[in-house]
Amino acid sequence: MGHSLDLQPITLPGLDLKRPILIAGPCSAETEEQTLETAKQLAANGVKIFRAGIWKPRTRPGAFEGVGTVGLPWLKKVKEETGMFVCVEVATAVHVYEALKFGVDMLWIGARTTANPFAVQEVADALAGVDIPVLVKNPVNPDLELWIGALERVNQAGVKKLGAIHRGFSTYNKTQFRNNPEWPIPIELRRRVPNLPIITDPSHITGNSALIYDISQEAMDLNFDGLLIESHRCPEKAWSDAKQQVTPNELKDIMDKIVLREAQIGDKPRVTLDELRKEIDSIDSQLLELLKARMGVSEKIGEYKHKNNITILQTRRYDEVMNKRKEQAEKVGLNPEFVLKVYEHIHEESVQCQNAIMNKEK
Ligand code: PEP
Ligand code: MN
Repeated sequence: MGHSLDLQPITLPGLDLKRPILIAGPCSAETEEQTLETAKQLAANGVKIFRAGIWKPRTRPGAFEGVGTVGLPWLKKVKEETGMFVCVEVATAVHVYEALKFGVDMLWIGARTTANPFAVQEVADALAGVDIPVLVKNPVNPDLELWIGALERVNQAGVKKLGAIHRGFSTYNKTQFRNNPEWPIPIELRRRVPNLPIITDPSHITGNSALIYDISQEAMDLNFDGLLIESHRCPEKAWSDAKQQVTPNELKDIMDKIVLREAQIGDKPRVTLDELRKEIDSIDSQLLELLKARMGVSEKIGEYKHKNNITILQTRRYDEVMNKRKEQAEKVGLNPEFVLKVYEHIHEESVQCQNAIMNKEK
């Protein structure tokens, strides 16, 4: 399936938006002083686009939910005093109207909002006739269609200066990341919509300030267009997302350390060898997770056989599995002999595992 996006490059008046596009600022605007002070330090370090959450979607009630509209004049002050452009997250029509009233330059739609087509439609309707850039974060769940659908809704309201923000995907099993990057998804988005700028958000991917550099470099090596990094004048005192924020000086060090590599000499094909290798890595880790799950079930079968005094090897079942896999291999276009070889090894390991279970309590 293709897409039906009518896009224009993102522009901000008087700013030359070169790769990497950098957006930085605190997770939340907390006080006028914290907002202004953080902004001034960032501006002194060369940041041109300032972010700050005014309305915060929080997982559990009772957490700091943003200062709301009272924070918008602080952003206006940031513009006046530093010359930076400012952007905020919007999740409702009221957010859009309020942000525009205070001269916000750019908007983004958050991950939880992107996951809800009703909410995206409401925001899109409020944006009719508005000509400022809008960035759409990926939905919390790994669903590329939902992400593209949100971009289409905003685009159909007439917004052409669109971008995407890749902030990783929620998983039930906790990994080293707060939100798993699942690089093949933004890579596929780029393949489907080649002229859509994609900005990586290492802060919400990692949830950990120590990992921001690595993910930022990875994003640049994958040829993505920019970075959104949360920065607070004093991260440990932040009212939200304290663990993932860096100081404006740490941000500068990260940006100075990043190496920008040319994708390819000449006409820059959008899919690089690095990207394809990333896809392989990601598929392999899924394969391993699945193998682990399969072994878990096999162990349960072993325990059942042990309890009920059944032999480990059930020849009929073995033949059935092999025949079925062979048929499935042919159906999906894999060499059946290769698949049978793989299954012989898997079966052997299962039998060994079940043997160990049988012998354990003897
Ligand atoms: C944010 O940018 O602070 C935010 C709430 O992000 P996300 O929508 O990616 O969770
Ligand atoms: Mn945040």
